[in-house]
Amino acid sequence: MKKQLFCVLCVFSLLLCAACGAPTVGDVGPSQSFFAMDTMMTITLMDGTEDDLTAAVQEVNALDAMLSRFQDGSPLAEVNAAAGSGVLVPVPQEVGEVLTEALSAARRSGGAFDPTIAPVADLWGLSGDTPTVPKDSDLQAVLPLVGYENVLLSDGGMLLSEQGMALDLGGVAKGYAAGKTAEVLKSRGVSSALLNIGGTVTAMGAKRDGSPWAVAVRDPLDEDGYLGLLTLGDGQTVSTSGGYERYFEENGTRYHHILDPKTGYPAEKGLLSATVVSENAALTDAFSTALFVLGEENALALWRESDDFSFILATEDGRVLVTEDLADSFTFWGEQHGYTLETVRR
Ligand code: ADP
Ligand code: MG
Repeated sequence: MKKQLFCVLCVFSLLLCAACGAPTVGDVGPSQSFFAMDTMMTITLMDGTEDDLTAAVQEVNALDAMLSRFQDGSPLAEVNAAAGSGVLVPVPQEVGEVLTEALSAARRSGGAFDPTIAPVADLWGLSGDTPTVPKDSDLQAVLPLVGYENVLLSDGGMLLSEQGMALDLGGVAKGYAAGKTAEVLKSRGVSSALLNIGGTVTAMGAKRDGSPWAVAVRDPLDEDGYLGLLTLGDGQTVSTSGGYERYFEENGTRYHHILDPKTGYPAEKGLLSATVVSENAALTDAFSTALFVLGEENALALWRESDDFSFILATEDGRVLVTEDLADSFTFWGEQHGYTLETVRR
């Protein structure tokens, strides 16, 4: 049996292109890379001080501590431990905010994004070093525990209605942290920064020469190739989800980490990756996961009934679909890699 450990190589799907057109050394302010939320982060300030940078890093670490379900005593661990008890668990305001965003994404995506995926994710061993294909009967047994409708959130706290339910905020926490940290920086007077929170990237302001921040979107099939370059306006966030980001192999089959809450298996909807751009960082993160699970047709339908996000989808049959509202900000490079560009309209 061949089993590969999870590809936790931190293969960022978005290459930071601070270097494209480029702040030269000495042209950027304080910058720090650090490990949090199980991945690498880099925060770069254009204006602002070392103290501002420290405050930003502390914000991410504080949110990591609150939102980790594996840290004993963390608010999320307590909510999970109390599942089925009937007793509301009080949580810090931030945890309530993340859950509000997660539940909104779940509702809007018809459950393609579901923060109660934890029991299924655990059967696959997604959070450990030895992921494995679960027995189908075990999967079927825990699937009924997945259901965002059974999460109660009120002023008094949170409650999971069934014993065995658990929250996994891995698909939204990094986005929430990106948005919250940008707010902290803004309140301290920082106007220009780029926050790469584990591949979810938030832009504040523009570069020193006034040109917009830019990120390159990775070719999901070639770690050295790119689908194109995306510029980000002030306050915009971009996030990509794809099956190529974290996966393992068992008996010659590849299994990735984005699960379809309807089946309990890794989502296979004809997409290689889903990239979302919006001004709500938590929504951006959650929707990149959601669109990957929804597939082309349903992703398009969700976009058509919304007005608060844009997307870039890479399909298994070699197309790159870009919503028309990104026409001015996305430069397509994919033809060199055999992709064709399609603009999708409302
Ligand atoms: P990453 O965290 O690698 O950037 P995503 O943002 O797409 O990738 O989130 C994937 C993570 O979200 C998984 O590792 C798992 O913790 C969780 N997850 C997997 N499938 C779903 C889903 N359908 N809905 C909500 N969360 C999910
Ligand atoms: Mg996500």
